[in-house]
Parts: sequence; structure tokens; C-alpha cells
Amino acid sequence: MINTILLGPPGAGKGSVAKLIADHYKIPHISTGDMFREAIAQGTAVGKLAATFINAGKLVPDDVTIALVKERIQAPDCKKGFMFDGFPRTLPQAEALQTLLVSIKRPINTVMEFDCDRKELIRRITGRRVCKVCGTPYHVDTMKPKVEGVCDRDGGPLIQRKDDNLEALTVRLKAYEEQTLPLIGFYKAKGLLTRFDGAKQTKDLFQDVKKFLDRLK
Ligand code: AMP
Repeated sequence: MINTILLGPPGAGKGSVAKLIADHYKIPHISTGDMFREAIAQGTAVGKLAATFINAGKLVPDDVTIALVKERIQAPDCKKGFMFDGFPRTLPQAEALQTLLVSIKRPINTVMEFDCDRKELIRRITGRRVCKVCGTPYHVDTMKPKVEGVCDRDGGPLIQRKDDNLEALTVRLKAYEEQTLPLIGFYKAKGLLTRFDGAKQTKDLFQDVKKFLDRLK
């Protein structure tokens, strides 16, 4: 059983590796960022509130984020394992998740940390394009689609996220350092943390992750 959390700054490869993990191990990829973007696209009240924070690079308030996760984790597809990407991002979120998972008797059994140097994070994020339909990431220089502006997977249009510019990214990296980094100590103290080199290319990074997860199953 894989009940896991992916931790790391924006651009460290979490989202790309998460897609491969979800395909390979058939577990749901729970990305709070994706859930917020979907809410924004649908124009819901949560989406409207989240957009003001997200576009500025700031974290959405804990109560809103925790409520979203609380509902998602109860869905039947999470019974065979789950993977959080981009959640938790603050200590109150980590504590709320802990309480929630204990109450449903499905505790986290591993936390994977992805790290990468700041210069590379900036290069990746400012050049990132994503498929509007499936979210697959590309890069303007190093991960081009076969046809410019079109997703290889489903033909969806490639767009740049509103928060993938240098200004918002600077705020996001600061939020990561100030609010999310303490989670490394939190999960290390529980003996759950394993570190991976997020500077590697996705396919190599996935091989490292796969070797590790295969031992867990
Ligand atoms: P991501 O797609 O994970 O990079 O998330 C994009 C944005 O969504 C973040 O910069 C935050 O504004 C918001 N967000 C996603 N997950 C969380 C979370 N766990 N807590 C607060 N805000 C979040």
C-alpha cells in the first residue's frame, strides 16, 4: 500500500513524477494546486477565493485547503492508496492531515522530498507550459511537444500558468522556505522522510522513486 506525500519547491519535479507514479501504481494523484485550478475554471466560490491568492503566488488559507482535502480523501479511489502533491504545505495542514488519516485508519507510510537548486527551479518554472486539458508539463527549450503549442498526449492547447512568472515564483519560493520547509523536520522526526534528487530528468527521477516504492508495496 502506498500512502504518500510528495514534498518540494515548485519546479522540483513533483508534478511530473506524480503523473508517472499514478499511472504505474494506479493510485490517485491528489494535487491541491490542480483542484484549485479546476475550481477556478468552473467559477466556484472556492475558485474565486483561491484565484486571488494563487495568482499572487501566495498560499490559499489553511481552512479552505484542508476542507478540500477532507472531502477528496473520502472518495472510494483513495482506498487502495493515495499520493498528495503540493499538500500539506504548512504545519497546521500537516497536523490536520495527520488527525484525519488516523481517524480513517489510513496513515501516511512515506514522504518523498524532492530538492533542486534555485537557479534550475527558476529556469524550469519560467519556461514551463502545461496542457490546458490534462496538465502535462512541457518546457519551451528542453521539453518541447512534437507540434508547437499542442499536447502530445491529447492534442490540448499548451498554456502558461498565471503564477509561472518570475514575480509570482519569487513569492512562491519564499512561501516554500518559510511555511513548507518546517514539514521536512516534522516528517523526519516521524521517520517517514526520503530525499530524491529533483534536479534529475523526470525519467531518471522516476526510476529512483520506483526502486524505492517497489520495496514498500
Ligand atoms: P501548485 O500547483 O502545487 O504549484 O500550486 C499552485 C498554487 O495553488 C500555490 O502557489 C498556492 O497558491 C495554491 N496551493 C496549492 N496547494 C496548496 C496548499 N496545500 N496550501 C495552500 N495553497 C495551495
